[in-house]
Amino acid sequence: MAMTVRRLIYLDHHATTPVDPAVLSAMLPYFSDRFGNPSSRQHVFGREAERAVTEGRTLVAALVGAQAEEIVFTSGATESDNLAVRGAARSLAGRGRHVVTSTIEHPAVLEPCRSLEREGFEVTRVEVEPTGLVDPERLAAALRADTVLVSVMAANNEVGTIQPVGEIGSICRERGIVFHCDAVQALGRVPVDVEAGRVDLMSLSAHKMYGPKGVGALYVRRDRKPRLRLEPQAQGGGQEKGLRSGTLNVPGIVGFGEAARLAGDALASGEPQRLRALRDRLLAGLRARIDGVVLNGAAEPRLPGNLHVSIARAEAETLILSLGGGIAISSGAACAEAGGKGSHVLRALGLPDERVYTALRFGLGRYNDAEEIDIVVEELAAAVKEARARAGAASS
Ligand SMILES: *Cc1c(COP(=O)(O)O)cnc(C)c1O
Repeated sequence: MAMTVRRLIYLDHHATTPVDPAVLSAMLPYFSDRFGNPSSRQHVFGREAERAVTEGRTLVAALVGAQAEEIVFTSGATESDNLAVRGAARSLAGRGRHVVTSTIEHPAVLEPCRSLEREGFEVTRVEVEPTGLVDPERLAAALRADTVLVSVMAANNEVGTIQPVGEIGSICRERGIVFHCDAVQALGRVPVDVEAGRVDLMSLSAHKMYGPKGVGALYVRRDRKPRLRLEPQAQGGGQEKGLRSGTLNVPGIVGFGEAARLAGDALASGEPQRLRALRDRLLAGLRARIDGVVLNGAAEPRLPGNLHVSIARAEAETLILSLGGGIAISSGAACAEAGGKGSHVLRALGLPDERVYTALRFGLGRYNDAEEIDIVVEELAAAVKEARARAGAASS
């Protein structure tokens, strides 16, 4: 069989992103010469590391309109979500034991909610509209006198829909309810601002925005009355104001900061518009070459690099298999793939089985170009044709 060297094409930026070369360069010295522990302030090694952490904190804060002191570094957004949801609910348990979230949250929010239920909390999971959007009125109707926490994500990691965060934040603020927002997918892709969103707690992750894996942050509002308290989930040396003990990941924080700086530049220099045009080219190409392509979730508001479609009579797993792994797209969220029950997000949108099992998620990013999009359209069109022909042959 003739082997052709194929270009690898990465369209799975909701799962993770490559580290930007500038991010890697910024990080490297902190693995070698500048290896100090930022808590060791008695000597230059420690002080140098502390300065680097402060710089990273400032850059991450700036991307979301926060103050540096409001950023708590963690090992990633999974930890941030756990600290926010469990940490806030447990510290507020004296005031009430009711938590409100949505049916399309990431497992890093849904699982801590389940663990709260086992501890005696009540959790209401507000259903989303078929568009994939949370209706603020429906959310308001779920709030009770004993509601202490609301957790709704900024943008969904599968269908890319962008939630009305500011409206939800206002509703919570009026009632004195703590509002947590998982902004991982929105960060660096659309403007994110803790003031505009009226957010009290916000989860961030570096590796979804061209930074390294294993580092994230939780924004914790300082000017909130009564003062926002969180029960730490990792106890020890008292780093990060006691909210997250453990020696800081200095190279990771430096990389996160540099990634945040680059993300701010990209947002200001038209990268979202470029991605939206590529995404629209992809959808138009698929529709021109394949019949039965339907969009999942509202077209807008949606992350500019996100496309989520179901392709009639072409099972997603079959298509992905026939693409041979060289084109990175996903049949769902990476985190949900182990389960095999089909995406809880697509179920929550009310999609029937045939739409769920034929669903493909494309996540476009910084290094994709039009040529790649055109190759993907061609290869996918061929794969669909083959899959349908085989299915037709099998059933006749
Ligand atoms: C990826 C992701 C997470 C988990 O982030 P990690 O840093 O990988 O732990 C949480 N929430 C959302 C919406 C995500 O997309």
